[in-house]
Amino acid sequence: MNFELTKEQQMIKEMVRDFAEKEIKPHAAEWDETAAFPIETFKKMGELGLLGIPFPEEYGGSGGDTISYAIAVEEIGRACGGTGLSYAAAISLGASPIYYFGTEEQKQKWLVPMAKGETLGAFGLTEPNAGSDAGGTRTRAVLDGDEYVINGEKCWITNAGYARQVIVTAVTGKDENGKNIISAIIVPTDAPGFTINCNYDKMGVRASNTCELVLEDVRVPKENLLGDPKKGFKQFLYTLDGGRISIAALAVGIAQAAFEKALQYSKERMQFGQSISKFQAIQFKLADMAMQIELARNMVYKAAWLKDNNKPFTKEASFAKLFASEMGFQICNQAIQIHGGYGYMKEYEVERHLRDIKLMEIGEGTSEVQRIVIARQLGC
Ligand SMILES: Cc1cc2nc3c(=O)[nH]c(=O)nc-3n(C[C@H](O)[C@H](O)[C@H](O)COP(=O)(O)OP(=O)(O)OC[C@H]3O[C@@H](n4cnc5c(N)ncnc54)[C@H](O)[C@@H]3O)c2cc1C
Repeated sequence: MNFELTKEQQMIKEMVRDFAEKEIKPHAAEWDETAAFPIETFKKMGELGLLGIPFPEEYGGSGGDTISYAIAVEEIGRACGGTGLSYAAAISLGASPIYYFGTEEQKQKWLVPMAKGETLGAFGLTEPNAGSDAGGTRTRAVLDGDEYVINGEKCWITNAGYARQVIVTAVTGKDENGKNIISAIIVPTDAPGFTINCNYDKMGVRASNTCELVLEDVRVPKENLLGDPKKGFKQFLYTLDGGRISIAALAVGIAQAAFEKALQYSKERMQFGQSISKFQAIQFKLADMAMQIELARNMVYKAAWLKDNNKPFTKEASFAKLFASEMGFQICNQAIQIHGGYGYMKEYEVERHLRDIKLMEIGEGTSEVQRIVIARQLGC
């Protein structure tokens, strides 16, 4: 593994940082306040090719690697956690499953417009009674002639309100051991009987669109089944492994933003006749923050590199997600501490980073679930 970014990766970093500084960061506080999804910004990101970074050019993508994609997530997350989450979900959850498991026809129909940034997609796995225990899915899809008839409910689905289609997981039958077979089906959001409500009032990542889905006798052609019908569960585990790299990258980006604000503030804030950055207690906090962010970033790059090189990466993706989200939460907390009372005020924006980063310990598998995944990989 090369510890220096390639020329292309460095270029993506500079291009996305420049875009995020100009087009995202100045609006992040307002989007947080109003819970406004930045659809116009997503269109611009699409024009720049950012929504197709990890997909080949033949599918409308930019032909980049997972490291480049992780870098883009970090840079967007550094400017706005909510935009970063929607960006990561659009690629890792909305588009990637179709790239990994779709037929050529499905790729042309659904992936190409997403990779070009013309449409958005979402991934509906979580249900009110099936979160960490995703195998407990209650949504059902029954084959009726050439169509699946789907009934069920999903909750907290990112980007669904702006999506052209949602990949929905549903029980389609039982295997030889009597266990539910879970499949993934591409459901157009304008299908009759498909209701999408986006009224959640969230603690953080408020610029991200989050929706409840209700499916009542929704009919889709059987060609919309994604991948192997019997391997839907395995497919979404693979999808989540990839998604965890992007959630880890997002945690690094948010933590980096909080750290930069704390460092700058510590140099400006005078107490006892000197800047607080001269106090060793503050210096040690900043030193630990810088070190932990660097370590988390390296873990993200390693997991991404393993994925790009077709090596097993389940454990490393969980390592990166767990470490980056937990250290990131601590860093955002310390950034508020370094700001003192000002840090508690919205104006200084570090409190937003803390609210945003909390989601990283929950989404795409909680910290507890990451420890379960790691323990299983250790053979426990
Ligand atoms: C803003 C936001 C966006 C989201 N976007 C999406 C999306 O796009 N698509 C999607 O499908 N889902 C999405 N989710 C759902 C998210 O993935 C789930 O919230 C998450 O997987 C946890 O499930 P749960 O909330 O039901 O918690 P639960 O599973 O009910 O867990 C509650 C607590 O119990 C713990 N726990 C559960 N099981 C175990 C166990 N076996 N051992 C130890 N502890 C355990 C958990 O770690 C947690 O602390 C989103 C959620 C949020 C908040």
